[in-house]
Amino acid sequence: MALVNLSRQTEGFLDRQQGLLIGKDWQQANGGDPIAVVNPADGKIISTIGEASADDVDRAVAAARRAFDDGPWTSMKPAERAGIMFKIASLMEDHAEELAQLETLDNGKPIKFSRGEIFASAGAIRYFAGWVDKIHGTTHNVNMPGDYHVYTLKEPVGVVALIVPWNYPIVMAVMKLGPALAAGCTCVLKPAEDTSLSAIRLGEIMLEAGLPEGVVNIVTGRGHTVGAALASHRDVNKIAFTGSTATGKAIAQIAAAGLKKVSLELGGKSPNIMMADTNLEAAIPASAMGIFFNSGQTCTAPSRLYAHESIADEVIDGIAAIGGSMKIGPGLEEDSDLGPLVSQKQLDRVTGYISAGRDEGGEVIGGERHGDEGFFLQPTIIKKTSNRMKVVREEIFGPVLVVQTFKEADEAVALANDSEYGLAAAIWTENLGQAHQMAKKIKSGIIGLNTAMGADWDVPLGGYKQSGIGRENGREGLENYLQTKSVFTAI
Ligand code: NAD
Repeated sequence: MALVNLSRQTEGFLDRQQGLLIGKDWQQANGGDPIAVVNPADGKIISTIGEASADDVDRAVAAARRAFDDGPWTSMKPAERAGIMFKIASLMEDHAEELAQLETLDNGKPIKFSRGEIFASAGAIRYFAGWVDKIHGTTHNVNMPGDYHVYTLKEPVGVVALIVPWNYPIVMAVMKLGPALAAGCTCVLKPAEDTSLSAIRLGEIMLEAGLPEGVVNIVTGRGHTVGAALASHRDVNKIAFTGSTATGKAIAQIAAAGLKKVSLELGGKSPNIMMADTNLEAAIPASAMGIFFNSGQTCTAPSRLYAHESIADEVIDGIAAIGGSMKIGPGLEEDSDLGPLVSQKQLDRVTGYISAGRDEGGEVIGGERHGDEGFFLQPTIIKKTSNRMKVVREEIFGPVLVVQTFKEADEAVALANDSEYGLAAAIWTENLGQAHQMAKKIKSGIIGLNTAMGADWDVPLGGYKQSGIGRENGREGLENYLQTKSVFTAI
């Protein structure tokens, strides 16, 4: 087993007391004691981040406001703004190993996946940089009496608050920073308190790339303090939030009070339907990866399996065998497939759900902690469940698959739709006509036909029902950060 040696840069970064990025300076946080950064692989403290005060948040928003109202960012030629974004992407790639090590130390995920996520994140910045000189309004032939030249302008919404979770820290940050910067907005980013390191390092990289002062500010700290102060700040024009549905509702209320624009990417409990004619050679490994990848801490994870009764045993055995063969270990070990959960709190939450599943009559495969240090959990399957059970209704956000069987396609669709969530769904069948019919009937924002995972910077991502409001990625994601001005000119 090869263990990744921490680079000198990573060690140097961890040794520093991490501050807040306000304007062009890194400043100490004033909101109370620093927050310990814990390595989920062994529970040890590896660094500290600051807890911003309300005053710190105020100064960060003011810096973003100045940069928006007076700075060069909004008046820059598109090619120049895109050029800075391309530079950020290249620097992220130059520092990929260091960023990947920080991500793994902070979140726990295996280093091979962290590396992929850093390159994918650089790709996001590059993708949105490509939009900068393609943002434009429209002209209109109007019916109103008189002669008019009428056109629309697409303008940035202003100062945006970007609040992100801990499951894919840098990916979640760039999914918002990319379109916000492309649109010409200025930002205050609040990473999750459990995983702020990669965002802080990204802030340094952005300054090095020549991003003007105040265009991106970073405040760290807890959600109910720093996150709430940022979201409710009077000078924030838009809130872009990814996180749990419960917090999303609190954010929606804050947004309503200030009549701020808001987009919400929230939780999921995504159904995975396998019809009798499923290609099991493809479906079993894809479904196992879908639920166990990132230790199940993926919003779109196919976490509710509905397998046709004729294939259910084979599917369960196959997924259990793959789960059992995954190498559970610290993320810094090159051959680890499954890292720890992000925190003790998350481990307690997930094991609590497994106990609840057992108490409600579910049959558990796996379900035990792995090792005696760190927050590792075995890949877990709960059989013999029903849609009434808590483990089926609620998002567990761990490597836990719940399974039911069905007889008819309509029954599977009804079971899949019987959820307050509607983020993603997968359907497996060799009958493509039936697949498309089912795809129409399922109420969710993303559908995989004969695939359990699908995400691309160009393809809209977002939820039906309680899984969110709005879409990220692609043109729709960019529109979140733009507003339209209609100009009537009498001629
Ligand atoms: P969370 O809601 O607890 O926290 C998310 C962020 O919000 C963190 O930065 C946190 O500090 C902040 N926050 C918490 N309370 C706040 C408040 N009152 N005001 C302002 N900010 C506050 O979620 P989490 O546990 O970090 O993340 C896991 C959740 O995120 C899961 O439900 C998952 O499904 C969801 N998620 C959704 C998507 C998607 O695209 N739909 C993607 C990733 C994660």
